[in-house]
Amino acid sequence: MDVIKIQCPNCGASVERKSNEYFGVCEYCGSEVCFDDIKSEAEVADLRGQVNTLDRRIGAENEYKQKLAAWEKKRNRMYIITGAMSFVGFLLAALSVTEDDAFIVLGVTLLLGAVIGLTILSIYRTADCPKPTDPNAPRKGGFFRIFGTGALILSGAAFLSVIFAVIFCGV
Ligand SMILES: [Zn+2]
Repeated sequence: MDVIKIQCPNCGASVERKSNEYFGVCEYCGSEVCFDDIKSEAEVADLRGQVNTLDRRIGAENEYKQKLAAWEKKRNRMYIITGAMSFVGFLLAALSVTEDDAFIVLGVTLLLGAVIGLTILSIYRTADCPKPTDPNAPRKGGFFRIFGTGALILSGAAFLSVIFAVIFCGV
């Protein structure tokens, strides 16, 4: 139990009080000493401390959310660009069957570019993924999760591309 010493308002002797007591009697002059003022001051100080802690936590949380949103934007841009490269690459490769043999070179180049680009950018996104404020919360960007999602998008784009080629280009 914390013991706090305060001055007796009557004789100036020090009066001890335990932290859960709000009323006492001075041992020297017998005056009653009310701790209420001290108590409310302590409560206000404590409350202010709690509010400050909460403010800091909310501030850190907001900062994390902003960083995460910026990071997700970069990641999504990577998905869109590599997905589009995959779509066009596969389309050109498919068109090389009926249109022009040279298309296959361009198509494969684009596909390789998409895969290599996705791999390299996934490494960057893994590195710059912001850490959550709560140390127990899992980080959002593991390499395999970022790259895996990207690979899925590339495959989906390629699949759509083939359907597109069959329907609109008569491959
Ligand atoms: Zn006293």
